[in-house]
Amino acid sequence: MTINPPKNLLGLDLQELTRLVEESGQPSYRASQLFHALYAGRASSIEQVSTLPKEFRSWLAAQDFVLAVPEIEKKFDSADGTVRYLMRLLDGNTVETVWMPDGDEGEAGDGSEAGSEAENSGRRDWRRATICVSSQVGCAVNCQFCLTATLGITRNLSPSEIVGQVTAVLNEQKVSPPLERVNLVFMGMGEPFLNYENLMKSVRLLMEGVGIPQSRMTVSTAGIVPRIYDLGTEAIRPKLAISLTAPNDELRERLMPINRKWNLELLMTAAREFPLRNREKITFEYVLLRDVNDSRQHACELVELVRGLRAKVNLIALNPGPGIDFETPSDKNVLGFQRTLIEAGVPAFIRKPRGRDIYAACGQLKRTIQVAT
Ligand code: SAH
Repeated sequence: MTINPPKNLLGLDLQELTRLVEESGQPSYRASQLFHALYAGRASSIEQVSTLPKEFRSWLAAQDFVLAVPEIEKKFDSADGTVRYLMRLLDGNTVETVWMPDGDEGEAGDGSEAGSEAENSGRRDWRRATICVSSQVGCAVNCQFCLTATLGITRNLSPSEIVGQVTAVLNEQKVSPPLERVNLVFMGMGEPFLNYENLMKSVRLLMEGVGIPQSRMTVSTAGIVPRIYDLGTEAIRPKLAISLTAPNDELRERLMPINRKWNLELLMTAAREFPLRNREKITFEYVLLRDVNDSRQHACELVELVRGLRAKVNLIALNPGPGIDFETPSDKNVLGFQRTLIEAGVPAFIRKPRGRDIYAACGQLKRTIQVAT
């Protein structure tokens, strides 16, 4: 006898739910009820959805449908309010998701402290917050300065696992709609553009279902050029960030081997051709590595590279990690690098490291179990 693996309702879109409801013989409005319960309502079990008649819920269960949200297995609290969640998936794999209250997302970038953070039964008040979402278990891209890279790639995350990270964190943080103060960045573990279809379906569910505006979502890529063109054709899409980290091919090949496949000319052409919306900018991320890419000369090369683009640069001082053979640059170099960009007319922001003390900062996400060993 074969046992069917459970099928997850989470991750299905309205069209798929409509087909399901038709099969069940229920009236078609049940599909939107279910859609609403799954995403806006962030239900965590089928039984919880009391708007649906019992017989429909039993029918779903009989068809091996479940409602499975990634389970928060562990939680690490940083002194700066950042929380790193270790999420357990149905197959036992784990990924990490990060909650950053009053994150500056590199917008303010002035290193100033976030505003009043009154303690509120162990939970901080916040004016806006950012959730950093993973797209894969591990990563295949192998950037030399990133801790996630040392894991290698296990598999892509499904839409239910991408959306589920967000709903799990929102539930845990007790965030109620409207969600205008919540930003999403697809900058956690993995290369989102190597899981393009699942990512884009998740983006649509997060916008149309969960209620997070597309203008509040950003996807970051190491430079998978064909998918940058694809993103430009999407009706609903997040903003685009590109991890640059080196201003010439020689250096970039060394730091980010993906540059051998798509070099800077191909990458920057795709960036120049990317159709921006009103007031939208492309973000370039640049991880500063001491004595490797942090000189004035590098900053000048970067200015030339982004000249004429509607863009801003987010500077990230390297977050160190075990087995990472690079060092964090001095504050003086970081500030000097920023000044060179700004003086040349390139908006440049220094991204505050968030949750470094709990290994939650950029490039530090790795299954905790492995960090501990
Ligand atoms: N794969 C995607 C998204 C995940 S990485 C990408 O490469 O963009 C998110 C950001 O963290 C990237 O800009 C990456 O360059 C940066 N990053 C990686 N390792 C880092 C480290 N050790 N310190 C600081 N930033 C790092």
